[in-house]
Parts: sequence; C-alpha cells; structure tokens
Amino acid sequence: MTEPSVPLVRTILSCRCPRCGRGNLFNGVLSVHPRCPACDLDLRQTDTGDAGAVPIIILLGAIVGGMALWTEFRFEPSWWMHALLWPTVTVPAAIWLMRLSKSAMIAMQYRHRSTEMGL
Ligand SMILES: [Zn+2]
Repeated sequence: MTEPSVPLVRTILSCRCPRCGRGNLFNGVLSVHPRCPACDLDLRQTDTGDAGAVPIIILLGAIVGGMALWTEFRFEPSWWMHALLWPTVTVPAAIWLMRLSKSAMIAMQYRHRSTEMGL
C-alpha cells in the first residue's frame, strides 16, 4: 500500500486528490474526475453511494428546519421571505457538505481500501 503523504483533513477540506493533494477531485459541482488530473490516480473505482447524502439530509434538514421555525416565531416574516431565504441557505450548504462528504469518503477509501482502487 502506498503511504499517503497528504494530511487527511487537508485533503478533505480542499477536495483534492487523496494521493497527491494537488489534483482537483471534482470536474463539476458533484461529479468526480475519472482520473486525478495531476497524478493520474484512477478514481473510477471509488464508490461513495448514498452514504454521504443521508447524514447531510438529516443534519441539514434539522438545522434549517429549526432555523425556519425560530425565524417564524421570532420575527413572523411573510411567506415569501421564507420562500426566498431557505433555498438560498439550503442549496449552497447542501452542495458544500456533499462535496466535503464525497471527498472524505474517497480519501478514506484510498487510505483503507487502496487495493480495490487498483493500487
Ligand atoms: Zn492526484
């Protein structure tokens, strides 16, 4: 097994390749490059599935739901204010958390199941 030289937390937070730490992991909002653009690590073998989405749905739903209730009872804004505010908060937060989650799963798979990633 190749020992990764990049710290795990930095790899996850920067959404970079788990092996070299230079290549960007994503080639879109949430789609992963098939190979690392910097070191050519084969990323097609990674499988993040739905494991990253479920905790984010639960956590973000609880936080945003709680904030919406608190805002409603505290400030009593009109309905259109809720319709404008919560998607503006929720969509970018969900995308950011999904990117971190996918990055974490790929980094952990690289660290612990690297033989299945063709290494
Ligand atoms: Zn790389």
